[in-house]
Amino acid sequence: MKIGKYSFGLGDRFNHQGEAQLKAIIMANEAGIPMIPVWNKSNREHQIIQTTPKQTRKEADEAVNSLVWEGDYYVDADHINLLNVDHFIQSSNFFTIDVADQIGVSAKQADIKKFVSSCKEMMGELRIPNIKEKFTITEDFVISVAKKYLFAVKEAGRIYRYIIQRKESNDFIPEISMDEVDQSQQPIEILFILKAVALEGIPIQTIAPKFTGRFNKGVDYMGNIRQFKKEFEQDLLILDYAIKEFKLPANLKLSIHSGSDKFSIYPVIGSLIKKYDKGIHIKTAGTTWLEEVIGLASADGAGLMIAKEIYKRAYERKNDLCIPYAAVIDIDHSKLPSPEEVRTWTAGKFASTLRHIPDHPDYNPNFRQLIHVGYKVAAEMGSDFYAALVKYAAIIEENVIENLFERHIKRLFLT
Ligand SMILES: [Zn+2]
Repeated sequence: MKIGKYSFGLGDRFNHQGEAQLKAIIMANEAGIPMIPVWNKSNREHQIIQTTPKQTRKEADEAVNSLVWEGDYYVDADHINLLNVDHFIQSSNFFTIDVADQIGVSAKQADIKKFVSSCKEMMGELRIPNIKEKFTITEDFVISVAKKYLFAVKEAGRIYRYIIQRKESNDFIPEISMDEVDQSQQPIEILFILKAVALEGIPIQTIAPKFTGRFNKGVDYMGNIRQFKKEFEQDLLILDYAIKEFKLPANLKLSIHSGSDKFSIYPVIGSLIKKYDKGIHIKTAGTTWLEEVIGLASADGAGLMIAKEIYKRAYERKNDLCIPYAAVIDIDHSKLPSPEEVRTWTAGKFASTLRHIPDHPDYNPNFRQLIHVGYKVAAEMGSDFYAALVKYAAIIEENVIENLFERHIKRLFLT
């Protein structure tokens, strides 16, 4: 299995928008972007919503069959580790091996020594084709990278081999993710991480580093765009170099987690992957769930009432809901409207407060982020919520498609 050049990770918390999401991917293909859908869902999401990986597989298969999609598609076991990978084995053909927690755990002295000696020929002055800056690689630097990342990469190797053993096949897409950490990885560190990955024998096809800046859930990028551009460009070139020098899979590409809604860096990403003819995987999770709430609100009547109820319950439990996502949200609680105020809103006001149109006067990123992490309350509403998803499917679908195609895919690939 080799993942194509452009792929889009479609998170769908409640398993109802598979077709709508695939329609957006089909529109991309019709517009000349050969894009592949990947349905991703993490163990955390499954636990909160009480769904199973099997349901994600079913949703993907059904969408593909009903829309007669003949291209490749994948089901991604997102952010798995040895403790939770078991129930993803059957249904997934893409595994995001998460070793963020192992960063900083020191590997054995002998392993570090072996790694350092395998990096000997890169020491001294190192030039990477197309990168102006030259890197001075000292033994101390390699040791420091090894101390930080070697154990994590070895853990990724253990997980990779475990998946092969359980699946009795190595025919799946392996990704390594290190994004859920505070400190970003420098491009030159990524080079040595990839060296370790190659030595460990993991044929990764996508890698998700932590980039500079904040990748908050469901809202725009926050950080230094110029710095992001510099690092992203170096990352692309370093991947190229690593593919050639370390014999990693030729289609190895960057995976951008929390990749939805990062509108201000989309032109940077789009133009750089075009410039170097590189692929990309954009992973999204909650942006579709937000469109479900927008669709319900826009339906007015009972739909709007459910949307308001979701906000009210999320507001009442905001501290609890925010805890698991603390590293990836920034909510100014003083800017959250009270549920009493929201009760008076029209359908249009609710939708435009939530919808991600940055320069709309109603848009409120705090409101949006709280609902983003508030999907648990919808899950708890159970059949009432699911029935509304069915009843208002048409207006929800319109919003899901517009969000993915107009605001995401077009901005990334067609501007
Ligand atoms: Zn991630």
